[in-house]
Amino acid sequence: MPSTDLLKEAERVMTICNACRYCEGFCAVYPAMELRRTFSEQDLKYLANLCHNCRGCYYACQYAPPHEFAVNVSKTFAELRLEIYSNFTWPGFLAGMFRRNGLLVSMITTLSVAVVVLLAFVLQGPAVVFSTHLGENAFYKVIPYWFIVIPFSALAIYVFINLLIGSINFWYETGGQLSELIDLRANSQAIKDVLQLKYLDGGGHGCNYPDDRFSMVRRWLHHCVFYGFLLCFASTTIAAIYDHFLHRGAPYPFWSWPVMLGTVGGLALLVGTGGLLYLKWQMDTVPATARAFGMDVGFLALLFFASLTGLLLLILRETPAMGTLLAVHLGVVAGLFITMPYGKFVHAVYCYAALVRNAVEQSRGGS
Ligand code: SF4
Ligand code: SF4
Repeated sequence: MPSTDLLKEAERVMTICNACRYCEGFCAVYPAMELRRTFSEQDLKYLANLCHNCRGCYYACQYAPPHEFAVNVSKTFAELRLEIYSNFTWPGFLAGMFRRNGLLVSMITTLSVAVVVLLAFVLQGPAVVFSTHLGENAFYKVIPYWFIVIPFSALAIYVFINLLIGSINFWYETGGQLSELIDLRANSQAIKDVLQLKYLDGGGHGCNYPDDRFSMVRRWLHHCVFYGFLLCFASTTIAAIYDHFLHRGAPYPFWSWPVMLGTVGGLALLVGTGGLLYLKWQMDTVPATARAFGMDVGFLALLFFASLTGLLLLILRETPAMGTLLAVHLGVVAGLFITMPYGKFVHAVYCYAALVRNAVEQSRGGS
């Protein structure tokens, strides 16, 4: 359960905001807030995950610090979300991974890279790793097929189960019903909101990020990350279909679907994550929580290196560097999979659940 002090602070600021209502056009939080007179723990957990941290309400607020009311909704909700992430995670004994998350992510990823590189050298020998391999199945000459398929399939299933349990925990802990979770109209509205990244536009003029000026840059960079990730996921899925069902082993020609989707997705991820990392270093830290900094940077950096090593592998796959690059890329991707349920990625899952709940509530006009 989140700390009582944090819940009390969230309840305090929401009570002030509910009397003021100046920010009601900024995002989904305020219309959802206005459906309530009081704020239970369930309500606060839900509202915190509906917040996209655009900071519009902080810079617009006449009661923000140094005013004695010290209303700072974006920071309060960011802190509450951090506690919620560890409360809803599965298995519970790994909840501690959300603390000092940036350090843990970098250690796990470094270890994954070291293990895969070492395995490649031990199993195949330096002569094979440093040789040039061309044509179909060239990748498997460095890392055997089953050493890729079995661990990554197991990791994908683990991540899926983990995130599913986390989102079910979130749903019930925020007072949702199963019938609402599978409501088709609410889900299609939430999917539309996600595809447009609707609430990153701060009500039409953009986020106040990295400072008090309005800007659409954060929204467009999030678009790059979101669609880049989806394209890379589609590329991997099609490559798996080619491999398992059409018996065409990687690497594929440049004008094939896996490579074209992976290239566009990888470039979009590079731009999106690089840009967001840059903005993070520029940002005003008052509407943020310092505790989330490591987690945010760790996840962005991991996505950045996964796309960078993937693109380098594409460019240099017909050179002796291919073996080492393949091992490093697989190690980074393994680090991404292992840490996915215990880092920033869960925000996407809980935020989607909150958007479904919001669509249900708004269609009813009240809770
Ligand atoms: S953040 Fe400030 S201005 Fe906005 S609704 Fe709350 S109290 Fe009012
Ligand atoms: S920070 Fe942005 S998304 Fe979050 S409550 Fe304020 S206006 Fe809404």
